Amino acid sequence: MVRITLVQGDITAETADAIVNAANSSLLGGGGVDGAIHRRGGPEILAACRALRASHYGKGLATGQAVATTAGRLSAEHVIHTVGPVWSREEDRSALLASCYRESLRIAAELGARTVAFPAISTGIYGWPMDDGARIAVETARTAALAPVEEVRFVLFDDRAYAAFAEQLHAP
Ligand code: ADP
Repeated sequence: MVRITLVQGDITAETADAIVNAANSSLLGGGGVDGAIHRRGGPEILAACRALRASHYGKGLATGQAVATTAGRLSAEHVIHTVGPVWSREEDRSALLASCYRESLRIAAELGARTVAFPAISTGIYGWPMDDGARIAVETARTAALAPVEEVRFVLFDDRAYAAFAEQLHAP
């Protein structure tokens, strides 16, 4: 079974085979995790994203999907970009959020990654409530991680996010 670990801090400082980016559909950068990954990872990641836009992803990446690039100067082999859903009060978009984790893990396994670091997708600018985002993240990691992925590490930016994930992880 996959090992799920929690770390509090900046995901761009982690060492892992794959680091997941909470991207937006343009793949051309944004705020939050996305901005931090491009800043610290350097221009090679953006160049790879532009190449994707010029080839198979002319319209960008759809919500719930994932695609890998180089990790540039990050301490990782790959960055896996995934587009979380924007939180909606009217519409249940949980399946799309679960899909981000599942598709990222599927690609990580395809790439031979053993360790995968995730941020709390959609819980920043996209407004997803932290407790629910943590529940979906932990449940999906438990059910969707495939060999050779051995460790799914959630890297949580602040105390509140860490506490929400810890509660889900240790819930009976
Ligand atoms: P989204 O647009 O999917 O909501 P954000 O990047 O705005 O993505 O936020 C996702 C989560 O990542 C939020 O909980 C935010 O606090 C957190 N976050 C922001 N920067 C970092 C970082 N450098 N490392 C880890 N988590 C981060």
